[in-house]
Amino acid sequence: MTPITALLAEGFTLSVEMWPPRTVAAGERLAESLHRLQVLEPSFASITYGAAGSTRERTHELVVELHEEGAIVPMAHLVCAAHRRSELVEILSRYREAGIENILALRGDPPLEATAELPQGELHHAIELVDLAKEVGRFCVAVAAHPEGHPDATSLVEDRRHLATKLAHADFGVTQFFFRIEDYLRLVDDLDHLGNVRPIIPGIMPITNVRTVTRMAELSGTAIPTEIVDRVNEVADEPEAVRRVGVEIATELCARLLEEGVPGIHFYTMNQVSATLEICERLDLLPGGARRGG
Ligand code: FAD
Repeated sequence: MTPITALLAEGFTLSVEMWPPRTVAAGERLAESLHRLQVLEPSFASITYGAAGSTRERTHELVVELHEEGAIVPMAHLVCAAHRRSELVEILSRYREAGIENILALRGDPPLEATAELPQGELHHAIELVDLAKEVGRFCVAVAAHPEGHPDATSLVEDRRHLATKLAHADFGVTQFFFRIEDYLRLVDDLDHLGNVRPIIPGIMPITNVRTVTRMAELSGTAIPTEIVDRVNEVADEPEAVRRVGVEIATELCARLLEEGVPGIHFYTMNQVSATLEICERLDLLPGGARRGG
């Protein structure tokens, strides 16, 4: 039984985001990644959730499987979008019965046009799901924080205000990935001024593939600074060099975050853990190292 709040209270957390596999081959690759991650002894693994159809069940299966294996503490993502309240209550109740304690409560992105299979969703903002998770199962609940502001927000000031209120209902925050440390520091600072006392774990996405990271940055409203674009573009034709430069960039960012005394680091792995492992080795973040309480 491990609520992530207890891990954060003990000290620095190192965590990873994975997604549930869609095919047998992807399942095999995920199993291999999880095996390789053991050397890192991650504090927890968060498992993404797709609002549509069969992907819903795959998240549940992977979360419960990880929980039963006991090697890593899972955190289940869940979204408001395209769900009736009763469906969310059912999903949360099943997690509670399976012994799952950690939920990342998200709004998700509502479907542009509602259908019978994918309605607009009865809860409109993540904060409502935080409250529901607390009511149904007294879960430890994390929420998303957007260092550069959420793309839908009317203003950064409004976005910060909503985020501070959401954090006050939840237990901790995990940020969207970012490349400029200033964006994270400004987020934490703004939230401090709004009275936030919850830990905000920075999310890091190592660049391993130019096209993928550019698309994800566009979707999430994350800016990729020119300096980083230039460094990656210099080697854009050599996939292995892109990966090497991506690891260097993420290592530099993590080193600065560690200097700032962050509560943890969360890696967006996209189920490929080589870059994460390399960054952690370079930063002496393996178990037993000074930064992991060794
Ligand atoms: P909210 O907190 O609801 O905020 C959304 C917008 O509404 C913001 O502009 C906010 O300012 C505004 N707002 C908030 N409260 C109010 C209010 N009371 N009144 C008016 N406006 C308000 N998506 C998935 O589909 N599956 C995943 O597994 C997933 N994992 C993620 C993990 C992390 C760490 C992050 C950062 C994002 C993840 N996402 C995932 C994406 C996320 O669902 C989207 O970013 C979504 O658009 C917003 O989610 P949110 O929880 O931040 O929403």
